[in-house]
Amino acid sequence: MIIVLKKNATPQELEHICQKVRELGLTPQVSRGIERTVIGVIGQEEKLQVQPLEAFPGVESVMSILKPYKLASRDYKNENTEFEMTHGVKVGAKKIVVMAGPCSVENYDMLLHLAKSVKKAGATFLRGGAFKPRTSPYSFQGLGEEGLKYLRQAADETGLLVVTEVMDTRQVELVSQYADMLQIGARNMQNFDLLKECGMTKKPVLLKRGLSATVKDLLMSAEYLLSRGNFKVMLAERGIRTFETATRNTLDLNAIPVIKKETHLPVLVDPSHGTGYRDFVTPMAMAGVAAGCDGLMVEVHPCPEEAKSDGEQSVVPGQFEEMMRKVRLVAQAVDRDI
Ligand code: PEP
Ligand code: MN
Repeated sequence: MIIVLKKNATPQELEHICQKVRELGLTPQVSRGIERTVIGVIGQEEKLQVQPLEAFPGVESVMSILKPYKLASRDYKNENTEFEMTHGVKVGAKKIVVMAGPCSVENYDMLLHLAKSVKKAGATFLRGGAFKPRTSPYSFQGLGEEGLKYLRQAADETGLLVVTEVMDTRQVELVSQYADMLQIGARNMQNFDLLKECGMTKKPVLLKRGLSATVKDLLMSAEYLLSRGNFKVMLAERGIRTFETATRNTLDLNAIPVIKKETHLPVLVDPSHGTGYRDFVTPMAMAGVAAGCDGLMVEVHPCPEEAKSDGEQSVVPGQFEEMMRKVRLVAQAVDRDI
């Protein structure tokens, strides 16, 4: 349910309505748009039936949101969500954000070296996994807190922001101490306890689409974050499982305009996991930008054949630089910056 306020509604009228909503055991979420202010009501909507909120001063109308995702929908908030991070980096704005770095954090020297080169090529975030979700329990599982320290240090030294995965509710506090943005991986997209915990931190979150998740499933997972009060959420298309075996996953570029239509949240494309092969990263990064994404996430490694994970899909720094040059041309063509 959303309560749309009159254009001239006063702050007192707004607070009075929120108070009433709380008294009914529901949670009000206020969205102040350029055109209008709306209050999203979270909880069992039937409780509102006993209270004719239309009659309250300042209320223009009360509407049901028919979509299963409420706060994530454009009915609740029509303007694109944009949020600012440190170093003045804006997510969801005209400038596309680029996150680059190794799949896993392996050692400090390599990470710093990579951070310098991706920063020079135009990246804004340093990525790298310290806690790795691996298909095999015998594969490298990440450096843990040591990896987080390396990420923070390399990012601070180069003026980048840190995005890194948090796999478990018990890691949220620790990862939040080092990261600027928490990544929820594809395999954890429906880990609802993790979503709730990340929703409560107020740290920006990068929510990756699950391997077999529909766009609706992804938006329902985003709803968990928003309903806990965290609106700093970026979605990620990272490829889904299909019958096609020529690539590791099938990068679902349809999802970009669909997500843009359905939600106000920014969306990123990950052509590395989306294809699984370094030769396909640049074309699909270009395609992602052409399709309207707000961010790119790319795995880069100085020596991919020695990478502890995902070497096959990691580009070398020179290829990343070349990718940026090509992606910049596409960005210009669709009236975006990068
Ligand atoms: C990653 O970004 O390193 C990663 C593991 O991604 P995903 O969760 O999309 O597989
Ligand atoms: Mn990876």
